[in-house]
Amino acid sequence: MVGRSLVGLIERAGIIILTDTTAWIMPIDSSVTVYQRIHPAWGERGKRRSRDSGCGVSFIGASLGSSIRMQPPPVLPRVRSVFDPRKVAAMRSLKLAALNAQVMLTSPFRRARIRKAAAEGTAPISVSFYHRVADTCANDWTISRERFLRHIDYCKSRFEMISLAEVQRRVRSQQSHNAAMSITFDDGYRDNCEFALPLLIQRGIPCTYFVTTCNVRGQMPFPHDVKSGEPLAVNTVQQIRELSDAGVEIGCHTRQHVDFSKVHDQATVRDEVVRAKSELEQMIGREVRYFAFPFGLPAQLTQAAIEAVSEAGFDGFCSAYGAYNLVGRDWFHIRRFHGDPEFARLKNWLSIDPRKVRQEPEVRYFLPPAMSFKETFPMMGRTTPLFAH
Ligand SMILES: [Zn+2]
Repeated sequence: MVGRSLVGLIERAGIIILTDTTAWIMPIDSSVTVYQRIHPAWGERGKRRSRDSGCGVSFIGASLGSSIRMQPPPVLPRVRSVFDPRKVAAMRSLKLAALNAQVMLTSPFRRARIRKAAAEGTAPISVSFYHRVADTCANDWTISRERFLRHIDYCKSRFEMISLAEVQRRVRSQQSHNAAMSITFDDGYRDNCEFALPLLIQRGIPCTYFVTTCNVRGQMPFPHDVKSGEPLAVNTVQQIRELSDAGVEIGCHTRQHVDFSKVHDQATVRDEVVRAKSELEQMIGREVRYFAFPFGLPAQLTQAAIEAVSEAGFDGFCSAYGAYNLVGRDWFHIRRFHGDPEFARLKNWLSIDPRKVRQEPEVRYFLPPAMSFKETFPMMGRTTPLFAH
């Protein structure tokens, strides 16, 4: 009991930062820092979201057992600050060191929890997503070959690597008796055919590759790459066909990488879901079973788009806001987290961080009874008790 309380404290650890005017608790497990501001009276709590800033810090210390529950950050005001690169780098190193220590200290308990859940058939299933594996043009959505290889070696040695269909089967049947995970990619970058995908194919690791059809067909770089000044090459139709022939599951990532939170007309929704599916099926000559929402945050998972996904005949859809697949829940929705290039953060995710379970935002949607997933609704919002505290 004492051991469990101690682990609970360590798992709630954060870093306290005191500035001239206020105190913040900074969680250590995310790349974008969600600062939790505590007013001088230590009563009312607010929160702001910002990149690591590191400015104006007069004291840094550790906080054990903070009872603050983080809510998923909606759009929050950015902290106005002057960025000092040295302080930012120092802050990042500090956070990673703290996270490494935290994962190391808690991993025996986390492993025991997973073993217990596996024995009961309720082991949570991880699904990670990547975008681009390459050693050139590094950016926030690129991971180097070396780091990707390390991820794959680590995952393959500790997890049963399964397909999305198998993830759904286990969640639905409540038979999850192994630590398992699945690998996915979004967008369709050409560089992935150089190293990452051949590696996965060669090792027989199931993989789902979500592509944006218009970009592939028209060989158009993605708007976010054009905006950042690096119009990176996208996959060709031929490559997508070859991947499909090699056993990679090709999934749909809309026609134009649309942000559904900004789409309000039904015709566009159908175009980006239903038409995208049939275009992609024509491209590869096979059925396309899965859909991944561009951006994949709760805001993009709109009722209209999910209805279109179901109506189009997809077997399921993927989000990307960071969550696990817990048995007995809504299996039509496959939850994913980022294959974070920072190994400590990936390990933290894979070892099932109970904070991530607690903090998962609830995504609600409703499909009419004529659609096939009625049975899942009473289960929505439920978590596996072992991981819910
Ligand atoms: Zn995308």
